[in-house]
Amino acid sequence: VKSNGRGAACRFIPAIRDKAEERRALEADLAQALARGELSLAFQPVVEASDEHIVGFEALLRWNHPAHGKVPPDKFIPVAEATGLIIPIGHWVIRNACAWAARWPDHVRVAVNLSPAQIEDPLLIETVQRALADNDLDPARLELEITESLFLNEKPATTAKLAALRGLGVSFALDDFGTGYSSLGYLHKAAFSRIKIDRSFVSRAVQPGSEAGAIIQAIVSLAHSLDMATTAEGTETREEFEFCRALGCEQIQGYLFGRPMPPEEATALVRPATRL
Ligand code: C2E
Ligand code: CA
Ligand code: CA
Ligand code: CA
Repeated sequence: VKSNGRGAACRFIPAIRDKAEERRALEADLAQALARGELSLAFQPVVEASDEHIVGFEALLRWNHPAHGKVPPDKFIPVAEATGLIIPIGHWVIRNACAWAARWPDHVRVAVNLSPAQIEDPLLIETVQRALADNDLDPARLELEITESLFLNEKPATTAKLAALRGLGVSFALDDFGTGYSSLGYLHKAAFSRIKIDRSFVSRAVQPGSEAGAIIQAIVSLAHSLDMATTAEGTETREEFEFCRALGCEQIQGYLFGRPMPPEEATALVRPATRL
């Protein structure tokens, strides 16, 4: 143990010291992960509620650590955000997601998650533009998912940046709606096409006495009055699916219709005849 003040203090709080050490180790490993090919994308199907056909996939990052195995995104994305590594990693995600989407039929879109830090990336617009052009992908087939937390510490340039992205022809989805921020004043700022209803509402909706159904109903009607569609996230059961469909959710995503899967598997679902 080092004899500096920090080390001495931490010696008596092993849990905190271990957490900090674990985090530093994770940071160092994550810095290498991209170059070492440890990152991959998994694609989760999104289906149309009316006919249950796949209309898109959400790209979800995966990290296969050489020693620890699969590290959950909820663990390494915050580290990537705090260190700035989310910027180069995000570039890779955008390019990779567009490259896969280019192999899918025209009606199948791809959704890519953007952290608030990525909106500030000066190379974001150029990266999206090049990924679309290099893969000859119609911008309408790329959806960018952003969370309401972006508007919590909104920088002056945020709205302009979103407008510029929108100008490329890509669309925006508002992710995890209802979980973070209570103001609705930001809703017009990105011209959202879609609200993604958080899994916490979907899973509670069918429980007896739950208020979650009423909340979903309110979100759907808010969305429709603003000309937006909705996707119910984290739909695990037939009952949840029927419930959300009856309330007017246009699209459904969740384990019921497929877990996040390797790109080849996702591609085979929408292009069964293509050999990769
Ligand atoms: P998210 O954007 O809300 O993604 C949905 C999460 O819910 C995914 O977790 C997905 O695997 C999980 N999920 C989907 N359907 C179900 C279901 O029916 N039941 C349950 N229990 N879970 C379901 P995942 O893949 O662990 O990702 C966690 C979060 O990490 C994402 O939440 C997103 O915020 C972030 N993330 C993932 N990939 C990226 C990325 O490429 N860039 C950025 N910035 N963030 C990412
Ligand atoms: Ca998402
Ligand atoms: Ca979500
Ligand atoms: Ca989330």
